[in-house]
Amino acid sequence: MARKKIIAGNWKMNMTPSEAVALVETLKPLVKTEEADVVFCVPAIDIIPVVKACEGTNIEVGAENMYFEEKGAYTGEISPNMLTDAGVKYVIIGHSERREYFAETDETVNKKVLKAFEHGLTPIICCGETLTQREQGITLDWIRKQVKIAFQNVTADQAKTAVIAYEPIWAIGTGKTATTEQAEEVCGAIRACIGEIYDEATKEAIRIQYGGSVNAGNAAELFAQADIDGGLVGGASLKADFGKIVNYK
Ligand code: PEP
Repeated sequence: MARKKIIAGNWKMNMTPSEAVALVETLKPLVKTEEADVVFCVPAIDIIPVVKACEGTNIEVGAENMYFEEKGAYTGEISPNMLTDAGVKYVIIGHSERREYFAETDETVNKKVLKAFEHGLTPIICCGETLTQREQGITLDWIRKQVKIAFQNVTADQAKTAVIAYEPIWAIGTGKTATTEQAEEVCGAIRACIGEIYDEATKEAIRIQYGGSVNAGNAAELFAQADIDGGLVGGASLKADFGKIVNYK
């Protein structure tokens, strides 16, 4: 069965609530499609107005992060049940910026992935190597390790619904896109790794995105690869270009 593409914007820490609603209004008519799932992952404070602004459209709303506990003394954190109650369907977990600036580890990623599933949220699980790791030739080993830990204690049925975003760190926000061959090689290796952990059906069902300077000019070639099921898009998701990326064909 062909996998449906999933194209998600990662707005990062960029839009105030009123700016976010204005951006939704701009993008709404541009991202209409039945061929791909379209997700806007937005800052926590923007979630409620963005969910409202997206009502009646094909756009689903995602969070950029969440904590792995439901409630308690965790000042500043957002719980999975808060997200679902607000209408969120997806949550980015383990983005490299969170790993770099907020000390997230493969272990906290795994805890968050398990909690997201428990609450019916679809995790967009990020993995990716640094430029040094690529130059050392350890990219595939590194990614396999990240994926294996992220999926510990995740059932095959859950894994089938997950989204993995392969994001080479050296390509995020730098304007340097991985070549199509580099992106497909790693996405293929991730799919093979899922096949080893689970089974053929899970390997075929899981959706794997590429992320790292995706733009209107390179999306079509990247998304045409056998193991690339769409993209996680940062900078270009804040512009009308996102409509071109969603309708890349
Ligand atoms: C991202 O933030 O996940 C990302 C891929 O950013 P950009 O598209 O700007 O490289």
